[in-house]
Amino acid sequence: MVDLKEAPKAMQLDVVSIFPDFFRGILDCGLIKRAQSGGQLRILLHDLRDYTEDRHRTVDDRPFGGGPGMVFKPLPVFRAVEAIKSGEPEAAIPVILLSPQGRLLRQPVVEELSRHRRLILICGRYEGVDERVAEYLATDELSIGDYILSGGELAAAVVMESVARLLPGVLGNEESVAQDSFGLHRVPGEPAAQGLFDCPHYTRPADFRGMRVPEVLLSGDHEEIRRWRHRRALEKTWRKRPDLLNDVDFSEEDQRLLEELKQASSPILSQGG
Ligand code: SAM
Repeated sequence: MVDLKEAPKAMQLDVVSIFPDFFRGILDCGLIKRAQSGGQLRILLHDLRDYTEDRHRTVDDRPFGGGPGMVFKPLPVFRAVEAIKSGEPEAAIPVILLSPQGRLLRQPVVEELSRHRRLILICGRYEGVDERVAEYLATDELSIGDYILSGGELAAAVVMESVARLLPGVLGNEESVAQDSFGLHRVPGEPAAQGLFDCPHYTRPADFRGMRVPEVLLSGDHEEIRRWRHRRALEKTWRKRPDLLNDVDFSEEDQRLLEELKQASSPILSQGG
């Protein structure tokens, strides 16, 4: 269980990229904008070309041994990180290389990241980054999924957004974080729902073109609603991503529900609560 109060008051993200402008739109809207203006998040964009040493501001070169594409040279990346870190004790700031070969960014990893005061994010491009960056400079490599993007900027934006919403005061409703899919928190009075999908949500009208909201949600019976939501969260997870259930810490009630689910072919939803 993660105590959100452990998270730092304000986090600083330093992003190293050859396309700092990529982030302009993201920084200027929604939750990330609010987190910055609320003082919970500071984002500094660093153009990798500012750390080159030649007049052409060259960041890449051909790979040793031949082969297609270009590779980020180590020098500008090392210089950028050293400049960003200057004054900070060695290893105090995680240096994260966005890479399809990194550990997968899952919610527990996001929670872990959100407890740091600062993070440095390095965005690769082309064939990737000279391996000495991963070996000797980065303290972590993160992947946002098993697919290849053209650059690390989108992946860095995913890290930004997922971390920002965990910073205290950014969402203004920590319970909502706890109830989101993959949430690792227990809400007082709620059954354990660690690592499950969120329950389904409905809003007005109660009857939309003949598609009715489940009656239990209109009943006003809070205990019944709580139980229904929990059952549906469990059911959705089991049906869509059974692999996630391997990480769930089940209560006895959950175990019973799961057995029911496995035995019954009809979904719990159709039983109306
Ligand atoms: N040749 C590399 C490989 O096959 O592992 C892929 C390089 S990719 C075209 C260029 C850059 O995009 C990477 O250096 C990394 O920064 C970023 N990138 C691509 N896919 C990513 C992913 N799934 N997660 C995080 N970053 C990714």
